[in-house]
Amino acid sequence: MNKVTIKRCLDNLSSSKKIVYPVNVSEIKEVIEYCNLNSYSFYPVSSGNNWGYGSSFPPNENTPIVMNLSNMPNVIKFDADEGLLTFGPGLTQGKLHEFLTANSYKFMVPVTGAGPEANIMGNALERGFGITPVHDHVESVRSLKAILPDGSNYESTFSQLGLSNLDKHHKWGVGPNFDYIFFQSNFGVVYEMTIKLERTPDNIMMFTLSVSEDASHACLLKLKEIKETYKNFISGINLMNTRRMLAMKSNYLAEENGYCSEDKIGELKKIHKLEEWTVMGAIYGSKGIQSTIRKEMKKALKGIGTKKRFISSNNIILKNNSLGKLFIDAEDLKKINEGFSILKGKPSKYPLNLIYSLSSIPDANKNHNPLKDNIGIIWFAPVIPYKVKVLNDYMTGIYNIFKEFNLEPMVTLTIQNENIIASTIPILFDKTTTNGIDNAHNLYRALLDFCLDLGIYPYRIPTVFQSEYVSKINWEDSIAYKLKNKLDPNNILAPNRYSK
Ligand SMILES: Cc1cc2nc3c(=O)[nH]c(=O)nc-3n(C[C@H](O)[C@H](O)[C@H](O)COP(=O)(O)OP(=O)(O)OC[C@H]3O[C@@H](n4cnc5c(N)ncnc54)[C@H](O)[C@@H]3O)c2cc1C
Repeated sequence: MNKVTIKRCLDNLSSSKKIVYPVNVSEIKEVIEYCNLNSYSFYPVSSGNNWGYGSSFPPNENTPIVMNLSNMPNVIKFDADEGLLTFGPGLTQGKLHEFLTANSYKFMVPVTGAGPEANIMGNALERGFGITPVHDHVESVRSLKAILPDGSNYESTFSQLGLSNLDKHHKWGVGPNFDYIFFQSNFGVVYEMTIKLERTPDNIMMFTLSVSEDASHACLLKLKEIKETYKNFISGINLMNTRRMLAMKSNYLAEENGYCSEDKIGELKKIHKLEEWTVMGAIYGSKGIQSTIRKEMKKALKGIGTKKRFISSNNIILKNNSLGKLFIDAEDLKKINEGFSILKGKPSKYPLNLIYSLSSIPDANKNHNPLKDNIGIIWFAPVIPYKVKVLNDYMTGIYNIFKEFNLEPMVTLTIQNENIIASTIPILFDKTTTNGIDNAHNLYRALLDFCLDLGIYPYRIPTVFQSEYVSKINWEDSIAYKLKNKLDPNNILAPNRYSK
């Protein structure tokens, strides 16, 4: 596909697939009108960096137009008293960070691991989650504006009364609220959104802990209590298995031919001084709150795990000379500082290094972009009820399946709250061969079937598998089907996006 103006694209559409870059609402409407008149469909993206979930490739391969909204406005208005940010689809994590820094606003970007080029609106519309205190990005959304597939406007409810300012302050408005139908769906093109930003804390306390397989159940139960008690004073807590930690420390897989044997993992564990699980999280709040939570956590986790560290962002530089005591080497210190900067809402390319586990691309040549570097990645991201038995069955099952498909299970379990653990596993594969692609897709399908039997499922699905998900539900009876038929009778907007 090549970049063309809206007009030229619409004039000679039949020649090939096209990307259009509208810059305002009337150009969005122009595309919609054209598609309705000529029975073409289009797929809207904000940045189109939905890496591991389909990037900007439409869920239906016959969709001829990608509507890339990255040239639309970015920051539209920021109310610095309230932390309310109104913005368009042009806003990336990087641009928001620049805006906040340039204006000395002490607010955090809702960062994810996808780095500065990832989009604020696109991530929220996919119900993404990140690592700052309000990690569920839909939770921050206050109001939005969209264009429906018939070209008409949608605004949140108070705005319809002429109270667009009130809409930005109050999430639900009055009467039925339809804002959330635009998330993981194909009911409209969203062109404006207001979210609440959190203030940057002066100080954050990071905690880490190493846990053996034997101690992992007791640890999970204690962390559940801790998260339930301290809620948003504690970040999402990540538990990473050895393979995931190794992927962040080295490209250990570059020498392996697929699934790394248990023996080899055992050796690498010793070399890198790792346990089966590494726990990482952060404590927010005033110094007093942090100190109380640290004490309570130490008490609760007594006798569980090793290498318990509580590191304050204010102290980390000063403690440079006591690295040994903290079990930190100079390389770890660099990573901890980078970690603090991400926890304080500064987007970073660093987490994208994960995608290079299988690759031998030297650091200097990395684009930190799986498409540009031709790296195959699919995220498997199921949400799991916080029950130790289910988690145990999940882990045993997925190890067996990854082994069967000769690919590496690099697992993170994120404790989102006391009820839910979100697991994220990057399926890294060789996408230069048909076999490599087929194997990764079949692995994903096997994981889906296994998880469905276990009573769990992904919170978000790569575009190629979205219609397979719909085939498992009674689509014609769903409210989504009824709405889609009413709002988009010509099925022009993102056919097959979480729909038939
Ligand atoms: C190493 C790595 C780490 C990652 N870490 C994270 C993470 O921590 N958290 C996370 O959530 N994701 C993560 N991702 C996945 C993904 O890259 C991000 O979620 C990214 O933010 C999605 O791409 P985007 O922001 O460009 O959104 P887009 O691709 O622009 O949008 C996502 C989807 O939303 C819909 N959409 C977008 N804009 C509009 C609009 N204006 N109107 C209607 N529909 C629209 C489209 O269908 C689109 O496909 C990671 C990926 C990698 C490779």
